[in-house]
Amino acid sequence: MNAYENLEVWWITGAQLLYGGDAVVAVDAHSKEMVDGLNASGELPVKIVYKGTANSSKEVEELMRAATVSDSCVGVITWMHTFSPAKMWIHGLQQLRKPLLHLHTQYNAEIPWDTMDMDFMNLNQSAHGDREFGHICARMHVRRKVVVGHWTNPETRRRIAVWQRVAAAWADAQDMRVIRFGDQMNNVAVTDGDKVAAEMQLGYHVDYCPVSELMEYWKKVDEKRVDELFAEYLSLYDYEPEIAQPGTEKNTAVRNAARAELAIRDCLADKGAKAFTTNFDDLGTDDINDPKFVGFDQIPGLASQRLMAEGIGFGAEGDWKSAALYRTVWYMTRGLEGGCSFLEDYTLNFDGNRSSILQAHMLEVCPLIAEQKPRLEVHFLGIGIRKAQTARLVFTSRPGDGITATVIDMGNRFRLIVNDVECIKSKPLPKLPVASALWIPKPDFETGAAAWILAGGTHHSCFSYALTAEYWEDYAEMAGIEMVRIDADTTIAAFRRELRYNEVYYLLNQ
Ligand code: MN
Repeated sequence: MNAYENLEVWWITGAQLLYGGDAVVAVDAHSKEMVDGLNASGELPVKIVYKGTANSSKEVEELMRAATVSDSCVGVITWMHTFSPAKMWIHGLQQLRKPLLHLHTQYNAEIPWDTMDMDFMNLNQSAHGDREFGHICARMHVRRKVVVGHWTNPETRRRIAVWQRVAAAWADAQDMRVIRFGDQMNNVAVTDGDKVAAEMQLGYHVDYCPVSELMEYWKKVDEKRVDELFAEYLSLYDYEPEIAQPGTEKNTAVRNAARAELAIRDCLADKGAKAFTTNFDDLGTDDINDPKFVGFDQIPGLASQRLMAEGIGFGAEGDWKSAALYRTVWYMTRGLEGGCSFLEDYTLNFDGNRSSILQAHMLEVCPLIAEQKPRLEVHFLGIGIRKAQTARLVFTSRPGDGITATVIDMGNRFRLIVNDVECIKSKPLPKLPVASALWIPKPDFETGAAAWILAGGTHHSCFSYALTAEYWEDYAEMAGIEMVRIDADTTIAAFRRELRYNEVYYLLNQ
């Protein structure tokens, strides 16, 4: 099933009545043919719904208002078949609160040199009509994507498809609740930020849930469900033999991890949350030897790994910005090859001109990026309030190109930082059994890491094999936030200038 089946993108063709009713009838027929062709191509993840021609200010306004309040419409595509005087778009554009894609295309591909007459020209005017529309968008600072290309061209469709995925994820984020189990890790700056500004700018809502409330779910988890989930683990993953032996320490740890997963699932379901954070310093009643102890016996890392694989956003140490961003990454990439994960810059590997960064976390790496079947293991983890035998999925990630992203709060704006990376073969860590990836940031380790640090990027980021910078450009445009990209062409001198120019831009535009 198409993951975006219930969503729509609306197509509005700009025209006017200057050239008579016949012209509009032809415009309408052409538009239908184009929309049908795009939908039939199988290259667009979200179906396009043709909403007719807009021939007056009133008609534009009605359509834009309807798009804004529609639950299924995630964005609007406009195209000016004839010259559509752009003053008639002003009121409609003022009311449009959905992502906009301006498609600069034409019904016919080549000029019909031998037959072209004035009737043809009165009908096929996108060359100048789309410029008139572009002008009013620029004048009004309407955020949009401009795609140029013939509608039958696969590259045009690919770019529309990218925007559709981002628009779908954007709609998803407007209805996202992030639950923080515990607060931020104390004193950490980069993962914190303004939750009010985030809701205004990025759409999602961030709530706090005391771990004591989560423990009420923990207490209610039925033993039979634990049995079932435990059996599911053994069917899905390779595992250490001791785990399967009842009564052993590792068996108990995995069963408790299953119970934690069920408690978190139940709590998130009750709250209608799509993302969550944990904090290794806040796992329930402090003293595990207290007879009244209620709490996780271990950090619920296995649960975080498995929930991420289902698209539930996750951020460690209270990192709600990463939790929300991970959900968006997962949503944008639904049905695409390649996985995604929350990752942390763990440790550096200096290796001449192939220096790289190990990406891991103490537990929480998503198995969607695994190269081999994940192995369920239990090891002692000596961090945080609960130093204990802790279950986790262990694997290394696939080599290949990808992109990683983070959002930071600069005080007067959010900054999205993206970096193209090359994942290279990682090695097992027998003494540090955690899931990991190993990558070289573009354009090279030294420049990529320096640019990321100059931009103020987090040690946490959301990685994907399937996304490209184009997705993030579309996302930043929809959100109206700053984006800086670190890629094969980045130089530190130019990147520094960009950061400085952006400071001025955002000072002038707050
Ligand atoms: Mn971390």
